Amino acid sequence: MSANEHFRVDRGTLLARLRSEPLWDLAVIGGGATGLGVAVDAALRGLRVVLLESGDFAQGSSSRATKLLHGGVRYLAQGRLSLVREALRERATVLRNAPQLSRPQAFVVPAYRWWQPPLHLLGLKAYDALAGRRSVGPTRWLGRRAMLASLPTIQPQGLKGGTRYWDAQFDDARLALALARAASRQGALTLNHCRVDSLILEGGRVTGLRCTDLEGGGSCEVLARCVVNAAGPWVDEVRRMADAEATPRLRVSQGSHVVVDRSFWPSDEGLLVPRTRDGRVLFAVPWQGKVILGTTDLPQDEVPREPRPREEEIDFILAEAGRHLARPPTRADLRSVWSGLRPLVLPPRAARKAASGQGGPTARISREHAIWTEPSGLVCVAGGKWSTYRAMASEVLAHCIHEQRIPPGREGRGERSTEDLPLVRDDALLMSALPGADITIAEGLTEQRVRFAVRHEFARTVEDVLARRSRLLFLDARAARAAAPAVASIMRAEGVLQPGLEDFLGLSDTYLP
Ligand SMILES: Cc1cc2nc3c(=O)[nH]c(=O)nc-3n(C[C@H](O)[C@H](O)[C@H](O)COP(=O)(O)OP(=O)(O)OC[C@H]3O[C@@H](n4cnc5c(N)ncnc54)[C@H](O)[C@@H]3O)c2cc1C
Repeated sequence: MSANEHFRVDRGTLLARLRSEPLWDLAVIGGGATGLGVAVDAALRGLRVVLLESGDFAQGSSSRATKLLHGGVRYLAQGRLSLVREALRERATVLRNAPQLSRPQAFVVPAYRWWQPPLHLLGLKAYDALAGRRSVGPTRWLGRRAMLASLPTIQPQGLKGGTRYWDAQFDDARLALALARAASRQGALTLNHCRVDSLILEGGRVTGLRCTDLEGGGSCEVLARCVVNAAGPWVDEVRRMADAEATPRLRVSQGSHVVVDRSFWPSDEGLLVPRTRDGRVLFAVPWQGKVILGTTDLPQDEVPREPRPREEEIDFILAEAGRHLARPPTRADLRSVWSGLRPLVLPPRAARKAASGQGGPTARISREHAIWTEPSGLVCVAGGKWSTYRAMASEVLAHCIHEQRIPPGREGRGERSTEDLPLVRDDALLMSALPGADITIAEGLTEQRVRFAVRHEFARTVEDVLARRSRLLFLDARAARAAAPAVASIMRAEGVLQPGLEDFLGLSDTYLP
């Protein structure tokens, strides 16, 4: 398919191609931000790349972020300037390449103590200065009166003023889908609901993988020059497919969010609480007509596919938000809750310590990413942030090329960079060709939109549509439940959700408050 054609998803054709390709250059395990970034970069170089995702694209951590494209104000406070600078550069890249899915976002850091204003102002001016010409807006001090005028629901008691600074916000799952579509347009095979069950080893070296189509049930072997493990919080699980004794390299930390109505925070500016009682930052961010409050940082021993916010996390977020809002939200006000798992990479020594049960709190583990090759030749990538997915991906490609596992490119396309690759297409024409524009299923979701999700965005399950094409499950879990039967019947009319796929009809109940 030429890069200019619109990609229409035909799962049968994708599966046939999966089975017929004798040798791929790259096989990527995991369809989150990291794996999809790698697939786009590889496909742009003309390499033969296949990406397999056991659930839906972004169903892991990559749909459960705070939705900020940021350099990390917190990392600035830790003096990690290169990390901040790289993320600010990448923030500008996403804003340029996916303007429909990202935008600058103002935040205010309130000051309730006399020493906070100079500290916040200085720090955030430095943050802005690090962005240089990529700054998205100036940092300014707002007096108490200006604060109350633009943030009418902030806790007024003891308020001295606040610092306004700018970062950016995005739609994480939809950006992941844009990456899947961009990779496909460039010739990659990206397949969701296809689980990698094991790795093929020859003489101790990984030469491919075995996978199962979770929809049709068939399994198949895929051979590749290089296999990249981009399984996020499940990277260790995939490593153990090559070496059952592998020392864990990840510590996983759960972060939860809750969603409330805009009446709690009607301002267009977000709120950043710089220090919660456990020493983290807390955000209140307006997003798609609701407000996201979060997050937490809880070390986890288990790595469930559908993590569930714990009661104490929800209580903590509500209590911390309540200290800064004139009207504190309660449990009864929650529209949705969700948890994500941060794949935090330990340096090898710390990994051995953690394996012997001596791990410390996850809030102190570096958020930087790591790329390494296992003795079996399996290339692993983990950690980092959504904001830096593109830079990580290009490092993974450089790593594989440096190890002479893959050529730099094919058909003379080795020099192409994802830095200037537009990721989002104008789908208006494609959309308008589909029926059902006037049939509304839920707020912001029409029959036409569901049909589009199936035909052009890889949606195979009801949750694929309601959680990651539309974001309704994240915004209002009960409204999503109510919409599920109507979505299912449109999907059936589109030829998906065949009998026997009952699992594909349900929505995860972890989002229900
Ligand atoms: C609470 C929270 C808030 C965050 N907020 C932000 C933020 O605001 N901004 C920011 O920049 N970053 C943020 N992050 C970080 C960001 O979300 C992650 O760094 C990023 O999503 C990691 O992507 P990934 O592709 O490595 O992992 P994932 O998105 O988890 O992708 C891994 C994928 O691998 C798949 N997989 C696993 N095993 C297999 C298998 N056997 N076969 C096939 N597929 C498999 C999984 O299903 C999964 O989809 C946040 C993270 C959390 C948890």
